[in-house]
Amino acid sequence: MKSGKVNYHSVQSIDEAISLNQTHEGNAKYMAGGQSLMPMMSLRLIFSEEVIDVSKIPDLNKSFSTKGRFFIGAAVTHAMIEDGKVEDTTKGYLQYVAQGIAYRGIRNKGTIGGSIVNADPAADWPTALLALGASVMIKDTTKEIETPIGEFQCGLMQTSLKETDLVKGVLVPELSKEVKWSYVKFCHKAGEFAHSIAAIVIDPSLGLFNAALGAAGDKPVLLSRLSTYLSSADIKNANLDKELNELLATDLLENTFHLPSSYEFNLHRSIVKKAVMEALKK
Ligand SMILES: Cc1cc2nc3c(=O)[nH]c(=O)nc-3n(C[C@H](O)[C@H](O)[C@H](O)COP(=O)(O)OP(=O)(O)OC[C@H]3O[C@@H](n4cnc5c(N)ncnc54)[C@H](O)[C@@H]3O)c2cc1C
Repeated sequence: MKSGKVNYHSVQSIDEAISLNQTHEGNAKYMAGGQSLMPMMSLRLIFSEEVIDVSKIPDLNKSFSTKGRFFIGAAVTHAMIEDGKVEDTTKGYLQYVAQGIAYRGIRNKGTIGGSIVNADPAADWPTALLALGASVMIKDTTKEIETPIGEFQCGLMQTSLKETDLVKGVLVPELSKEVKWSYVKFCHKAGEFAHSIAAIVIDPSLGLFNAALGAAGDKPVLLSRLSTYLSSADIKNANLDKELNELLATDLLENTFHLPSSYEFNLHRSIVKKAVMEALKK
């Protein structure tokens, strides 16, 4: 299928993008890599006659350290992160996540900003960034707003963005040498969206003890009981497997719609346990 007729605009600055969108009363769509937007327009799941290409805006292609955190511009592609063209202050975590997204052709065009705005619960960046405790930098008509990623994604393919708001980039922590992380994604075949994702980030010096689960509901979630447990978990603990089963029985019941006897419940529990074991072994 092909999309309906669209007017394509390429812009060179954030302000130009926002003011152009204002002239269309917020009905224009920003486009970064077009890897989700274009298929959705072709399938008539999104309607817009105006597309504003933001991928060439210099401010959205920057990445730099800022006050102990690292900014990654919204138009940075998955491939740039995979190839190490963006400094990885997360000790390989971001690079590992990037190389597992879809196929190289999609990674060449798809962007970190486009992925989080698309807000697919089975996409990689939303879960990976939640475990990192990342924030989203949003530019509205007058100011910049920092929003924790967990508040940014409100539901199934829904974000807190208002009509003309533009995502400028994400802020991720600069992890310490002691960090233990893992990222486990279950797909039936390579390159497809995940059926379950578990991301673990344990960095005691930053007070980060996060276990995130994706592809299990409307949006990725932090598993609160497991996250607390990770601050004290010991790989040599003979009861680790039993303790994880008990914690996850509650965490998964509270955060998914799946019954304990279901295939999905057991899949998520296995993937999360695998991720915990991998992280603790580091
Ligand atoms: C076959 C296929 C397989 C895929 N597999 C995976 C996978 O395994 N894992 C995964 O995570 N993803 C996967 N994807 C999605 C892919 O990663 C996309 O690149 C990503 O979801 C969207 O990025 P984009 O830059 O192409 O955004 P676009 O398609 O350009 O835009 C997506 C949405 O974000 C909005 N937008 C874009 N940039 C901004 C901005 N700066 N500010 C505000 N709004 C903005 C657009 O208006 C649109 O609503 C797959 C896609 C395809 C086609």
